[in-house]
Amino acid sequence: MRLVDFHCHLDLYPDPAAAIAEAEAAGIYTLTVTTTPRAWPRNLLLTKDTRHVRAALGLHPQLVAEHSHEISVWENHLQETRYVGEVGLDGGPQYFRSLDLQKRVFERVLKQCAKAGGKILTVHSVRTAKTVLDMIEMDLPPSKGKVVLHWFTGSKSEARRAVELGCYFSVNGAMLSTEKGRALVGELPTDRLLTETDGPFTQVNGRPSRPGDVAVVVEQLASLHLKPQSVLAEIVISNLRTLVNAFGEVILEH
Ligand code: MN
Repeated sequence: MRLVDFHCHLDLYPDPAAAIAEAEAAGIYTLTVTTTPRAWPRNLLLTKDTRHVRAALGLHPQLVAEHSHEISVWENHLQETRYVGEVGLDGGPQYFRSLDLQKRVFERVLKQCAKAGGKILTVHSVRTAKTVLDMIEMDLPPSKGKVVLHWFTGSKSEARRAVELGCYFSVNGAMLSTEKGRALVGELPTDRLLTETDGPFTQVNGRPSRPGDVAVVVEQLASLHLKPQSVLAEIVISNLRTLVNAFGEVILEH
C-alpha cells in the first residue's frame, strides 16, 4: 500500500537526515515543511536527491510575531521549489495578537505564489478558516496555485466553500480523534483527500508521529467513507498525482 504524508516537519526530529531516509526507504510520498525560511537551505539539500520526499518553503504563522522580517528570505528562495508551507494564519489565544502581521505576511505569500505560478501550498488555518478562505479567493485563484488545507478545523459550510475554491484537505489522526472532526472529514469529497501526520506535533503510542503512521489515517478514512483500505489508499495516491500534475508537470515518478 503506497502512502502519503503531505505535511510533516522532518527537520524538527532529532536526526532529520535519518527521518528523511526512513520515509524514502519506505516509499512514502512525504512533504516535509519548514517553519522558518532560514531552515530551508538545509531541508532542500537533504531532499534534493530523494524520489519520494519533497521539502516545502514556509514561514509558520505561529512564528510570524518574531520572524516576520524573514519574509524577504522566503521570497528569495521561492523560485527553488514548487512547494510552499507551512504558511497561513493562527487565531488561537497564544497567537491572535500577531494576527494583523500574520495577514500581511500571508497576503504576500499568496500574491508571490500567484505571480510565480504553479505552486502547491500547505496552509494552516486555526480559528481563521473564513479569513484564510477569503484571502485565497482574493489572491490565489486555482489556475495560479493549489492549496492544501492542513488539519482543517473549520465548519462544514467553510469546508464546502473550500472545496468550491479548489482546495484539498490533508487529514491527520488527531483530527479523527474527535466526533466533530470525524463528522467534518466524513463529508469531504474523497477526491480532495490527502493524509498527513504533522509529526512531530502529533503522537502515536506516546511517541512523535512518523510518516508511516498515515497508515492508521488511511484505515480511519476508509471506514468513514465506507471503502476498503486499499481503495482509499489508491484514492489518496490518485489525488496526490492530480494535485502535483495540476500544472502539466509530472514529478511523482521522476
Ligand atoms: Mn505543521
